Amino acid sequence: MVCRDTMEEMTNTPQILDGVAIAGQIKAEVAVEVKQLTARGITPGLAVILVGEVPASQIYVRSKVKTCGELGIYSEMLTPPESITTDEMLALVAELNAREDIDGILIQLPLPKHVDTKRLLEAVSPDKDVDGFHPVNVGRLQSGQPGLAPCTPAGIIEILKRSNLPVAGQNAVVVGRSDIVGKPAAMMLLNASATVTVCHSKTKNLAEFTREADLLVAAIGRPGYVTAEMVKPGATLIDVGINRVTDVAEVEEFFPGDAARAATLAKRGSVVVGDIHPAAFAISGAYTPVPGGVGALTIAMLMKNTVTAAKLRRGLSAEKD
Ligand code: NAP
Repeated sequence: MVCRDTMEEMTNTPQILDGVAIAGQIKAEVAVEVKQLTARGITPGLAVILVGEVPASQIYVRSKVKTCGELGIYSEMLTPPESITTDEMLALVAELNAREDIDGILIQLPLPKHVDTKRLLEAVSPDKDVDGFHPVNVGRLQSGQPGLAPCTPAGIIEILKRSNLPVAGQNAVVVGRSDIVGKPAAMMLLNASATVTVCHSKTKNLAEFTREADLLVAAIGRPGYVTAEMVKPGATLIDVGINRVTDVAEVEEFFPGDAARAATLAKRGSVVVGDIHPAAFAISGAYTPVPGGVGALTIAMLMKNTVTAAKLRRGLSAEKD
């Protein structure tokens, strides 16, 4: 006898939500807007502060600066040494806040332990806070005012919109309540008229909530945590998780017989896995792959925020002309 789940897997063809393609569309639109602004004498500018020598941060920052160049956005990379103090960082931020040619300020996290991250993030002018982390922007998002929203959850909304997936009236369940992903994602879905439930590590009987979700967002940080038994067949699954799995048996459990992933593991020593088990994708209506889903949009949304900041600061509408 073939069990129900296996039947669903056999007959179901989920829509793959291609984050790379959507990011490409957004970047192309941003490039057009930058051209229009430049023609009016406004060149959007982004300053990125990268403290010390964290290799992963260096890679992220380089690709942000490179994308700025591709889209015609002016960018500046500031690289103070690891030994910089909170006061020195505050002075740097104050300088950037005052500069007319800088529209966006991004402080690459994590900062060294001795630097007061919270104080610094709050010192960035809310109008230049392209990460959307400042309490003023958190408040603007909550009250539905124009402002700068965090890039990763804003990317989720773009994926849903551009894939014509319904949000209004849907049961949306967000697993994870971090300030950078879970909470703002829940707020954006609520603003888009979904009925939103937020779950976290203290949630009892998580599966009872996730199984009710028409739209499930997982931002947990645990590989394959949301299994096929925890999702409603046909649901839209948005996987924010980026986890590196190094164990051969674990990779085989997630991706049985996948030669390409086995080769990646052999070559790089790890394979990237999301928070949702691949077997759950197989019974979904639509899902974001990992990699190539939500993660692909973050830089595109940062570019979009930089242009939005340039416009809002000059009293222009944030909407496209
Ligand atoms: P985080 O700050 O560590 O938050 C994780 C959240 O998951 C917390 O709210 C935690 O609950 C919850 N959680 C942990 N274990 C759980 C469990 N067993 N059941 C239910 N909830 C659980 O992580 P984050 O920064 O939001 O990131 C989440 C994932 O997204 C990570 O894999 C990260 O790498 C990835 N990420 C990707 C992007 C991108 O694509 N560009 C950007 C940011 C993050 P408590 O609050 O109760 O502790």
